[in-house]
Amino acid sequence: MHEKNWYGIDMAHLLEILDTDPRDGLSEEEAIKRQQKFGPNELPEPKKDPALIKFFKHFNDVLIYVLLAAGVITLLLGHYIDTAVILMVVVINAIIGYIQQSKAEKALDSIRKMLSLKATALRSGVRREVLSSELVPGDIAVLTAGDRIPADIRILEADNLNVEESSLTGESTAVEKNSAVLPDDTGLGDRLNMLFAGTTVSSGSGTGIVVAIGANTELGKISSSMEEVDQLQTPLLKQTAAFGKVISLIIVISAAVMFGIGYVFHDYETADLLLAIIGLTVAAIPEGLPAVLSIILALGVQRMAGKNAIVRNLPSVETLGAVTVICSDKTGTLTKNEMTVTSVMLKDKEFSVTGTGYSPKGTILHDKKSAILEDHPDLLEFLTAVKTVNEAHLRCDEDGHWVISGDATEGCLITLAEKAEDDIERLPILSKIPFDSSYKYMAALVENGNSKWIYVKGAPERLLKMADLESSSGEGALWHEKMYQHANKGERLMGAAVKGVSTSKLSIDQEDMESGFSLIGLAGIIDPPREEVIEAIQQCKKAGIIVKMITGDHKDTAVAIGAQMGIGDGKRVLEGRELDRMDDQQLTHAALNYDVFARTSPQNKLQLVKALQAENHVCAMTGDGVNDAPALKRADIGVAMGIKGTEVSKEAAGMVLVDDNFSTIVNAVKEGRRVYDNLKKTILFILPTNVSEGALIFVSILFGTALPLTAVQILWINMISAITISLAIAFEKLESGAMERSPRKANAKLLGPYYIFRVAFVSFVICGGILLMNMLLADQQVDPAIINTMTLQALVMSQLMYLFNCRSETEFALNRDFFSNKIAFLVSGILVAVQLAVTYVPFMNILLGTVPLEAQYWIWPIVIGISVFIIVELEKWIVRQYRKSEKTLKTDT
Ligand code: ADP
Ligand code: MG
Repeated sequence: MHEKNWYGIDMAHLLEILDTDPRDGLSEEEAIKRQQKFGPNELPEPKKDPALIKFFKHFNDVLIYVLLAAGVITLLLGHYIDTAVILMVVVINAIIGYIQQSKAEKALDSIRKMLSLKATALRSGVRREVLSSELVPGDIAVLTAGDRIPADIRILEADNLNVEESSLTGESTAVEKNSAVLPDDTGLGDRLNMLFAGTTVSSGSGTGIVVAIGANTELGKISSSMEEVDQLQTPLLKQTAAFGKVISLIIVISAAVMFGIGYVFHDYETADLLLAIIGLTVAAIPEGLPAVLSIILALGVQRMAGKNAIVRNLPSVETLGAVTVICSDKTGTLTKNEMTVTSVMLKDKEFSVTGTGYSPKGTILHDKKSAILEDHPDLLEFLTAVKTVNEAHLRCDEDGHWVISGDATEGCLITLAEKAEDDIERLPILSKIPFDSSYKYMAALVENGNSKWIYVKGAPERLLKMADLESSSGEGALWHEKMYQHANKGERLMGAAVKGVSTSKLSIDQEDMESGFSLIGLAGIIDPPREEVIEAIQQCKKAGIIVKMITGDHKDTAVAIGAQMGIGDGKRVLEGRELDRMDDQQLTHAALNYDVFARTSPQNKLQLVKALQAENHVCAMTGDGVNDAPALKRADIGVAMGIKGTEVSKEAAGMVLVDDNFSTIVNAVKEGRRVYDNLKKTILFILPTNVSEGALIFVSILFGTALPLTAVQILWINMISAITISLAIAFEKLESGAMERSPRKANAKLLGPYYIFRVAFVSFVICGGILLMNMLLADQQVDPAIINTMTLQALVMSQLMYLFNCRSETEFALNRDFFSNKIAFLVSGILVAVQLAVTYVPFMNILLGTVPLEAQYWIWPIVIGISVFIIVELEKWIVRQYRKSEKTLKTDT
């Protein structure tokens, strides 16, 4: 399609050029034809680094430089095997880094696919949700608040349609759009009859014709992609990276010092000493740790996606485990979002409604008899109002299920109207104000005969104000009483009101809504709680996580539903307008002391998040509307709804729920805790290996004895065995008590005092055992080559046994979950096989400088390994006793 000034062409001509029909849209066949012709509505993929460059980027690391320097020195000394092995390690390290990065990227990519943009289009006369990549020029697109505009679109119809175009024009205030033709020289920012791809609808609604897609859109012209880079770094990874840098520095310095000591006090050959120092350097650096940590995180993202929680970046996985407060919407998240109207209240009478779900089977009863509309003209008007000011559609699908398209609250009102004895007419709408959770109503200007009316439906308090019935006496009191009675049972309330306007009126806006209405009636709607959520809330309580309900609904409804679900005390509730009046201090107090917030606006959500964060809470906040985006961004974990959420809210969130279900959040928190625990266990597992290797070499240089391990052997242990074994920890399941303890402190140090103690203690045990063994063996005049191989085996055995210690931080290792992690046993089996190969396969002997061992020499390594296991279990037992007594002390005082 040629470049055109789409905004300057008159509508009839435009429809002709694009060959489309504003009422029916394109036919399905035509759409497919055009898809083949014009291709998908996508921006060209941003150019990625070629694989090779990505691979070489992993060499750009301090640690690798240290290793490369070691490689050069060994080369100069003529120890070619060492050089080869060090180079191999460098390459293996890069390969692991590369694989890990691709894995993380793949995990995030597949998640991005799950989140692909959707759009609504008219096809063959039916409104359909399509992938936005399937839009073609000529499609009639339907847009509502919160949509990301999928293509460049010329507007056919706009109802208070405001669009935020800052991504394109830099202008951050929303512009109101209309459908008038514009002169040919209109600048981009002034093209009010155009919607541009990549911008968002901030309020209102409209329809339009797709005129340009993909690279031909204005967005496509300025950039190849808007996609932000997802962060692969996480606080923990950053901490470890920083930690690694410090360690490397300390190691290099101490290596220099050791070189001095060795040179001055012992008569080492310079070459031997250098080799020893290189050994020390590579020994103490935990080469494989960063890669293992990122793999664990990437696996976590994938597992969460499998459980309906799409986490959009790696850091969120970690934050999830630290969540202390979950602030949740009510409707659809805590409740099923399956609404049924059960009562209708008019000024001087009430009706009850039978039937459940969206099926129109059921009756509107008055005095136990089916209500005749002729006898109740006000009921007829109420039903006409709620059916007219309504965008939902009801239909029966092939299996006989009644389904609605559109909002559930609106859908149940259609069902209600269908239950009436006679057909209720849906009046044609001239202009409308779409629903928005900040003002909580929807209104429409309709023409009936030769008079015009504004019908409005929405939150009863809003309508009472419009009808000037706010006072608590007279008619106002009557309505308040009805509202209380129904809301108190947990019913959601929806009112309808009407006002006559002059026949010259063509459109309506907020100003027309201030006064002069008369209230017709109210509908009481039930929306049952999700059963599984009640249990999830209990679980949160045990896990020290506070659950707060933040809803737009009526306060009595909110409290009643809260009480049914275990949120709040069934009495205390705060309304949004009360929050609006508070200063920071009062807000903090309110945020901490109330669990139910009603009639809130999106702005209130942001206030609450900030107040909670100021008290060091780690806050998860749900949201679905366009105005929720700031609160979702600000929260530690913004949670968007995959089903009913707007595109804008999904983009602002850190996590998207595929099923809109509160329990999914709790499951994700659980998974977050598991991942974090496993990250910590991995660190706890890997570090003692490095420390004890370093210590062994340190001692030998200090006393001028033969080196217990060569650099190559150390690299072998650090790269091969430590990494393979530690991956087993990634598959460790959540410890049984993990959801019974309070969330970890978000600012807690990675290596707390206990961790430092444990690392030192285990290193001491391993190192001590091996030194003892070596001394005794040296006394017995055993061949140094054999001692050397035994040292290697003793270290690996200790690692293997210590793995089983580490599977639980402080619980007894031989518990009933012992066999639950099959991978741990698989890995152990592989490791034993590999170590046998190292000892007995001649090629490996040459490579690693090992010698075959006679059976008797295996006793030592095995005994050392088992001792490590037993001693660490003893230590854990003592720690458990100590912590228990501390706890009882605390509860006693
Ligand atoms: P929540 O999702 O927390 O229940 P909402 O902001 O969706 O809150 O709704 C708040 C109130 O606005 C509801 O109690 C209802 O009275 C009114 N409301 C909800 N949806 C609509 C709608 N589509 N049209 C008119 N009013 C609505
Ligand atoms: Mg809602």
